[in-house]
This record gives sequence, C-alpha cells and structure tokens, in this order.
Amino acid sequence: MTLDDSSLQKFGFIKRETLGSVNIDPLQTGGLLTDPAKKALVEWGDGYSVCDFCGGVLDQIKKPPIYDFIHQVLPEFLGCDEARVTNGARESKFVVMHSLGKAGDWIVLDGLAHYSSYVAAERAGLNIKVVPHSGSPEYSLDPEGYGRAIEEVTKESGKPPALALITYPDGSYGNLPDARKIASVCHEYGVPLLLNGAYAVGRMPVSAKEIGADFIVGSGHKSMSASGPIGVLGVSEAYAPVVFRKSKHSKVKEVELLGCTARGATVMTLIASFPDVVKRVRNWDPEVENARRFSAMLEDMGFIQNGQKPHSHDLMFFEAPRFFEISEKVKNGRYFLYRELKERNIHGIKSGLTKYFKLSTFGLGREKIEFVADAFEEILKKYENV
Ligand SMILES: *Cc1c(COP(=O)(O)O)cnc(C)c1O
Repeated sequence: MTLDDSSLQKFGFIKRETLGSVNIDPLQTGGLLTDPAKKALVEWGDGYSVCDFCGGVLDQIKKPPIYDFIHQVLPEFLGCDEARVTNGARESKFVVMHSLGKAGDWIVLDGLAHYSSYVAAERAGLNIKVVPHSGSPEYSLDPEGYGRAIEEVTKESGKPPALALITYPDGSYGNLPDARKIASVCHEYGVPLLLNGAYAVGRMPVSAKEIGADFIVGSGHKSMSASGPIGVLGVSEAYAPVVFRKSKHSKVKEVELLGCTARGATVMTLIASFPDVVKRVRNWDPEVENARRFSAMLEDMGFIQNGQKPHSHDLMFFEAPRFFEISEKVKNGRYFLYRELKERNIHGIKSGLTKYFKLSTFGLGREKIEFVADAFEEILKKYENV
C-alpha cells in the first residue's frame, strides 16, 4: 500500500455498524456517551482544546472547570484525598506501581486480576504473586489469601511486597470480593492496597475511604460515560507526595503523569457526563435487581450463571451447554449465536463464543432486559430439534 488516492479511499469518515444496537457488551455498557458528552465531543474535539487557558498544569485549569472537577468533586466521588485524571485505568495502576516499587520488588494481585494489571506491573519491573481464587463455579477470593501471599513474598524476597491490588469487581465474573477485609489484612502487614474499580467507579457506590484502600482506580471509557481513553486515580494523603512528586527539570510537572494526561475531548466528555454519572451511581440498587432478574430468567432456560450468587453486579458470566451443543451441530456453528443475536439487533457477545460468555445488563432497563432474555428463549426454540 502507498499514499496514493486509491489507497487512501478506505479511510476518512467510517460508519459504525453496531451503533444503535441493544448493547450488552460489558466493555461498553457503562461507556455509552450521555447527550451532554456527545455535544462536548464535538465542541472540544480539536487537539489540545482544553489548553486555551492552561498555565502549565492540567488540573489547575479554571476555565473550563477542570480544577474544580479534579480537586473538588472527584476526591469526594472516589472517597480519597487527592485525585487526578490519567489516560486510562491501566495508566493509573502503572503510576502507582511505578512510584511505590523499584525494579525487582513484588506486588500481590488477586487471581482474577485484569491483564492490564499484569502488564502494568511488568512495565514497572515488579514480580507478581497471585492470590488464588476458589475456581469454578464461584471464583471467590479468601481475604486471608492476601496474608499468605504477603508472608510468602516476605519469606522469599526478604521484604514485604511494595503493593497489593484487588480487582473490584473482576472483569470475568463480576464478583465483588470483601475488599474491606482485604484492606485490613494488607494493612496488618503494612502493605498498601490499590482498588481497581474499572467496573465499579461510575456504576456503583464505591469509596476508597470506606473500604480502607490507599489507592482507587477507575476507567472513564468503561464506566463513566466518557469517550476516553481516560482514567481516574485517587490517592490517600499519605501517598500523594510520592505518587504526584514533581519533576526537577520542569518544576510544575508531575513525573508519573509525564507532565500532562488527558488534554482534550477525553476529559471534557468525562466532565460532561459526570452529573449523570453521579445520579446513576445513586440509583445502583435497581441495576442489581435487573441483573438478578436477568440471571434468574436465563437460569430458568437452562443457562448457568457462574460467579457470586445472588449476583451484585451487572457483569455476569454464563455457561450455555445447550448453545454449545447447537453450535457443534449446525453449519458454521461457532458463529450461530452471534448471527442470531445480530439479526435481533443485539450486540456484545463475542463472535465465536457459545459455551461460555459474559454480558452486562447495565443501563438496559427492564424492557430491554426482557427483550434480550426473550431473544435467548427464541433462539433456543428455533434450534429445539437440532
Ligand atoms: C477494562 C479494565 C481495565 C482497563 O481499563 P482501561 O481504562 O482501558 O485501561 C482494567 N481493569 C479491569 C478490571 C478492567 O475490566
């Protein structure tokens, strides 16, 4: 390929086929833009658009009200002392890992940790000790496992881990571990705890202080209706001077943030959605009810929900033995479920999956939840004799 006109034809504006579907993709249900965010995306879409009135530090910008957002409302929302925006949850995790650990140090992670926690630790040069989960079907985590992992690290390396991390909830089963207990176990050993709330912050009430976590991480494009990539990071007073230390070369710039993070539409869509996000977090209980209703409807049809039961999050993992049987018998069977759902304008179960899949009911409301459950039932009926 070259840069001639015919090679360039496929670029330029591209329509998005899945726009307007009923979306049950866990990655996407909490990241759909609110109307104010859609407007902000256009208004602030130009590169470096927020820098019009910047005196050198992003979080000090008064107009637009980035300062008020980052220093006044965000810490309260996260239940922490100091907050910043980053370029994603993974960047937030890396910032903490890199400032607390030296290459060769250890970190303790839960057995359901996201791959980006591993990669962030790897990039920071940290060794990883995993706290095992109980396995199928509950995949639960014993808080005491953190004590054992910390003791093992201390015995093997001569000092405690630099940090422990808990995924709250995890991105596979939507389990909410006993984070408060985990924080207290870690603190008994003097180990700080990072709460990875990529699937919590912006969906459900969560507070670093109530849990006792030293750090809290969220993802704007996953759970705060921001176009992103953008993340949030909350830090306790005790660690803020370390994590947000300034450069000796550029006196006002924070080293771990590489001087500046979200510098345009990403932060402005986050801010535009924030009032709605605060409201929806207050309205979390009906989301849990909807998830439970959906889970019950699917279990009545013979699907098996794995992870915590009753479930307390919109992200759910299902085992679908009957869909798997069908997929083994029909032509091009691996893709039959994807095709059937697509025909019904439902998007979000990974193409090719039938035996196990995860989905999210966040923001769907009762009507769409019933529509999706009915679709599953219709598909089962359609292949009844296969
Ligand atoms: C999606 C996800 C992330 C990554 O979030 P980014 O903001 O895209 O970096 C991290 N952890 C968990 C548990 C996730 O589900």
